[in-house]
Amino acid sequence: MKLTIIGCTGSFPGPGSPASCYLVTAFDGTRDWKILLDLGSGALGVLQRYVDIKDLDGIFISHLHPDHCMDLCGMHVAIRWDPNGWGRERMLVHGPAATADRMATAYGLPLEEGMHPDYDFQHWKSRTPVKIGPFSITPYPVLHPIEESYALRVEATEPVADGSLRTSVLTYSGDTDSCPELIEAAAGADMFLCEAAFEEGRDDAITGVHLTGKRAGQAATEAGVERLLLTHIPVWTDINTVVNEAKETYDGGIAVAVSGVTYGVFSGSQLGTPKSLPTAPVSIVRSAPNREWPGTKSKSPRR
Ligand SMILES: [Zn+2]
Ligand SMILES: [Zn+2]
Repeated sequence: MKLTIIGCTGSFPGPGSPASCYLVTAFDGTRDWKILLDLGSGALGVLQRYVDIKDLDGIFISHLHPDHCMDLCGMHVAIRWDPNGWGRERMLVHGPAATADRMATAYGLPLEEGMHPDYDFQHWKSRTPVKIGPFSITPYPVLHPIEESYALRVEATEPVADGSLRTSVLTYSGDTDSCPELIEAAAGADMFLCEAAFEEGRDDAITGVHLTGKRAGQAATEAGVERLLLTHIPVWTDINTVVNEAKETYDGGIAVAVSGVTYGVFSGSQLGTPKSLPTAPVSIVRSAPNREWPGTKSKSPRR
């Protein structure tokens, strides 16, 4: 499984990255399947550097704050009004129950038709996996001030060189404060893509909204994840602060998501042997092989 960071700035787009959007690809033995986790403000433009949107197999929305879903409005135009025609089935969109009406309202469309001609809207059922190609995606309800908000546990089962199947696990926190469901979602994950929007001290009065680096690290430790990739860091939050906080509470490899970078997500038994992985052609232009994953001794990440 590969994870390409399209957008990772918290809460609204920043100068170096759109808001939340992650391209995840996995090989089923025949072709690469391509899905998005969130499609937040500003992400649709950068996304097209890495994938033809007609090649996407589905979009999976963690919650309905604009920094996680609003570019569904732009994609609706790309689907409905392409002069050459869309030429394929509706785009699958899995999200909270209100997704279709929220998008129609945002665009000023009548609710009844809304974007239904463009999107096949499906609703999450808590802890019920959605199967698509090599992926299984399970939503866990998390702690965030909106009607439905989920962490997404993405499992991908792919063939390896000897013909056997291996399953790797990527957990995306969505937006959340500390909660047992987040630990459940991330249990034993090979990579934990976890938000760290707040700073200890500065944001202590606000509870039930976001994690700090320290709380993200605590969740990573409790869940026993292999690696921690911090994300959703807003422009007003210092990256070095959240990384240093996370180092206090988690002693595994920590890195910070950067727009345009691709990360390999390998199951624990594959660690150290990335060359044995199938070399399926992908549309991604940059790659950060597993063996180069920055450990806790690496230099402080910079934006
Ligand atoms: Zn957010
Ligand atoms: Zn949010």
